[in-house]
Amino acid sequence: MTETMEIKIKKTTNSKLESTDLTNPVFGKVYSDHMFIADYANGEWGDLRIVPYGNLSISPANTTLHYSSTIFEGLKAYRGKNDEILVFRPEANAKRLIKSAERMCMPAVPEELFMQAMTELLKLDSSWVPGEPNTSLYIRPFEIAMDPYVGIRPSDTYSFIIITGPVGAYYSKPVKVKIEKHYTRAAEGGTGFAKTGGNYAAALKPAVDAAKQGYDQLIWTDSKTHEYVEESGTMNLMFVIDDTLVTAPAGDTILHGITRDSILTLAKDMGMEVEERPVSVKEVVAAIEKGTLQEAFGAGTAATVAQIQTISNDGIDYELPAIETRKYSNGFLDTLNKIKTGEIEDKHGWVYKI
Ligand SMILES: *Cc1c(COP(=O)(O)O)cnc(C)c1O
Repeated sequence: MTETMEIKIKKTTNSKLESTDLTNPVFGKVYSDHMFIADYANGEWGDLRIVPYGNLSISPANTTLHYSSTIFEGLKAYRGKNDEILVFRPEANAKRLIKSAERMCMPAVPEELFMQAMTELLKLDSSWVPGEPNTSLYIRPFEIAMDPYVGIRPSDTYSFIIITGPVGAYYSKPVKVKIEKHYTRAAEGGTGFAKTGGNYAAALKPAVDAAKQGYDQLIWTDSKTHEYVEESGTMNLMFVIDDTLVTAPAGDTILHGITRDSILTLAKDMGMEVEERPVSVKEVVAAIEKGTLQEAFGAGTAATVAQIQTISNDGIDYELPAIETRKYSNGFLDTLNKIKTGEIEDKHGWVYKI
């Protein structure tokens, strides 16, 4: 699809905007007035429409309900200084959704359709983008198989849907994480690089078990040896060791985070040493013991930077340097926040204006 297609718009007669507190919205609880839907049938996307946010009607035999034929994205829109609506790197999300679709045997949502749908939806619900510092409008595009069929095969019909909702300042308390050596998030040849529902459902039990032991999150290790660190919860994992930014290479088992990519780019811009290579648990523990590990954090859209205060390995809790001393990650967070809201120059063309 190269040309834009027509999107039919049916506006709500019952806006929730007035009764919503946009100064302090709770993540994932409040959704904007409208949603975008396109249906895939007979080999093509059609019936593009924006309709009032509301329930879907789905057959109990719907294949997604049984076999998790679902992929999603997550990105944010911010209110800039002159009241403009700015979205951070949406083209990268569109491209990643196509990669997820390919792995899950689902039809690709063309980048043009993704961008057009998101743009039209945000234009209509632009009043839902909050303006307080550190607030944003969370955008959740997703694709699901729609065949009412409990046999296992790729579906013939799909829906691509976008919902949005205002989210508040993400006060990410520094987290206490446990290096997980029994359970596995992703294996080589598996689906770890795709944002597909089953990955997250399968990660619940390990996370709940860790929470019972007092940990906020897990550090996932490789499925074969459990000797190399991979991701932290649903974020990419980064370290500063000896003033070098170190992170595991994105690949089959490690999701290509857009925040990760943005931080690596900013680090290179400022002349920092950057290493994308396997990182062993041994190396991390040795660096903590020697005092050369300066910073550890998760990188992802939700928090941008989530500081790690404590890392547990084989039952031993290691305390990491105080958050105030972390000049690199605090700097990345500050710079990214300013780029996203248009306060400083966007050298890499990351910001998309609605
Ligand atoms: C979404 C996600 C990330 C972070 O990606 P961003 O594009 O930075 O939001 C990292 N790891 C996993 C497993 C994810 O699902």
